[in-house]
Amino acid sequence: MSAAIIEVADLDVYYGTSQILFGVGLSVRQGETMALLGRNGAGKSTTMKAIMGLAPPRRGRIRLRGTVISGLKPHTIARAGLGFVPEDRQIFPEHTVEDNLVIGKKRGPDGQDEWPIRRIYEVFPLLEPLRHRIAGRLSGGEQQMLAIARTLMGNPALLLLDEPSEGLAPIIVQRIGELLRQLRSIGSTVLIAEQNMHFCLGLASHATVIDKGQIVYAAGIED
Ligand code: ATP
Ligand code: MG
Repeated sequence: MSAAIIEVADLDVYYGTSQILFGVGLSVRQGETMALLGRNGAGKSTTMKAIMGLAPPRRGRIRLRGTVISGLKPHTIARAGLGFVPEDRQIFPEHTVEDNLVIGKKRGPDGQDEWPIRRIYEVFPLLEPLRHRIAGRLSGGEQQMLAIARTLMGNPALLLLDEPSEGLAPIIVQRIGELLRQLRSIGSTVLIAEQNMHFCLGLASHATVIDKGQIVYAAGIED
């Protein structure tokens, strides 16, 4: 079995005096696509925010490739190799699609781009014809694809997607699903928070269910 990329253990998170997460634990291994499923308000976004350092836990540990990252600042965590696409997808609306991709780019140790733009367009063929369009004028689904592509340009060890199918037309949801299947086939490691279990069918290799801030189910999924 391959090594855990992210390991979350015994996480308690509070907003003010309200406890939101109760001893949450999960781990995502290299090459897995993990679905974190749960209803509205179950704690999916809070779990992702805790991993990203945006909702610091009061108890528990988060490890990235074995190194403790809980307690570090959000930008340090992002630089350490986590790419997060939050519910309110973050793009630069005034810039073109291609400028958005370049802004997210990271150079490898040998000065080479770790994710050349050409490769992004191979994985996201729908983005290439939009390359000179202003990002703020794309449809919601196109913006979602761009937000995911932009985050991939940083070559994250783990890609965290918070409700990537939310508010999108069925055809766009289907395309985002295809794209995530493609990411799985090239060995990317992904954690997806979703209310929509159907979206994750045939897509996720593993599923964890959270309810009222507690993990209630975890399993691998047969294809
Ligand atoms: P959804 O599917 O609606 O996005 P979720 O599973 O992502 O739900 P969270 O956003 O993690 O749920 O919220 C978990 C609980 O924490 C909810 O009861 C929510 O009302 C509460 N909560 C979320 N953000 C805050 C905040 N900033 N301050 C106080 N309570 C919050
Ligand atoms: Mg949420």
